[in-house]
Amino acid sequence: MPAKKDLYELGEIPPLGHVPEKMYASVLRPCRYGAPATAYEMEVMDVPELGPRQVMINVMAAGVNYNGVWTSLAKPIDMIAARQKYGDPHDFHIGGSEGSGVVWAVGSEVKDLQVGDHVMVSPCHWDEHAYDIRMGIDPIASKSTKVWGFEDNFGCFAQFSVVDDFQCFRKPENLTFEQAASVFVSFATAYRQLTGWAPHVVRPGDPILIWGGAGGLGTAAIQIVREFGGRGIAVVSSPEKADFCMSLGAAGTIDRRDFNHWGRMPEVGGEGFDEWQRGVRDFGKAFWEVLGAKQNPWIVFEHSGQDTMPTSIFICENGGMIVTCGATSGYNLDIDARVLWMRLKRLQGSHFASLRQCQEVVNLLGQERLDPLLAKTWDFPEIGQAHQVMHDNAHPPGNMAVVVNAPERALKQLKV
Ligand code: NAP
Repeated sequence: MPAKKDLYELGEIPPLGHVPEKMYASVLRPCRYGAPATAYEMEVMDVPELGPRQVMINVMAAGVNYNGVWTSLAKPIDMIAARQKYGDPHDFHIGGSEGSGVVWAVGSEVKDLQVGDHVMVSPCHWDEHAYDIRMGIDPIASKSTKVWGFEDNFGCFAQFSVVDDFQCFRKPENLTFEQAASVFVSFATAYRQLTGWAPHVVRPGDPILIWGGAGGLGTAAIQIVREFGGRGIAVVSSPEKADFCMSLGAAGTIDRRDFNHWGRMPEVGGEGFDEWQRGVRDFGKAFWEVLGAKQNPWIVFEHSGQDTMPTSIFICENGGMIVTCGATSGYNLDIDARVLWMRLKRLQGSHFASLRQCQEVVNLLGQERLDPLLAKTWDFPEIGQAHQVMHDNAHPPGNMAVVVNAPERALKQLKV
């Protein structure tokens, strides 16, 4: 058995259940805010304390997603300053909103998890006793809800992390820790967008427009649409990405570089509006062509935001839904309101997923009906670089993870 120490090197596994005082973490500080490549630095930090309904995770791998990009840029808000405003004493941020690892300690009131369990950790947590939750609100919409490692400090870009017990889901054996770390933000969010807003759910034969088809959300969405029998048309920006989307089961692809009406919508009826509308119509025709039928999308899967939302509103089928969870290109979403109300279209906000939806996604991954599509695994000191590549839209199609404490093979050797 390895000796007990106050700090372990990366990849060095302490005796099962021994929690050291210190840990390596990838840390953001206000003085380094800016490009992700230089904002993250590895530092030795205190291991966070465990609460009664919490679980200490020995983090094996962490997912790379946009939360880590927004936090390093301090856009749209400076998370450290936002927390300090409410009395938080810490002047640093440890990010990482999805991860996987081994349960290393459990709080006194935790019943369903034990030291040694292999888990994947979801990002959202809330106060189960919050008044609005007791009144029946969807916990994701609760005032008490926070995203771990984003709105909250002490995420999984560290050797150890403390999470609420309900954030943990048992890792299916067919997933490596790296795969398991990288799926929740993409897959569970896409799953809720496409199945969670009845009656606007994917049904067999439904045409669905998927923006950013080769990205984390997009590759998840293509697979979910395929599994529910829909026809997903993916928007991409290169022939390679188009091929990748087709290999996942997209019914067709559109290259957004063939159009130039992107960005904010001109004043309705004003200068440039007619030309802008022609661009939208051409895009709509391209959708029909690749679909092979004059049908508009029943669901428009949005997250690209300012550049695409005006088109999404127009192109959506009458009575259909535009469902959005993000705005990569900007937050000012222009809408021709006439189209929304006269055509009875639904514009739905959607944020992450319920615990049940998370479990359903884990089940589908465990049954190998969904492929986690881990495209690249980075080493821990490369966290900044991994987020820089994502920020620059230069990342490979699919999802990315960072190895934290141990790659899968080392863990197997240690038989943890
Ligand atoms: P991603 O892997 O970078 O994929 C996004 C894709 O969008 C890119 O591959 C890119 O594909 C496309 N894109 C980029 N800029 C665009 C533009 N101006 N117009 C049209 N398409 C554009 O990111 P992701 O993980 O899928 O996340 C996407 C967004 O959703 C982020 O803003 C993220 O913060 C948000 N999000 C929110 C939640 C939530 O729970 N609320 C969860 C996950 C993600 P092409 O260049 O090939 O078109």
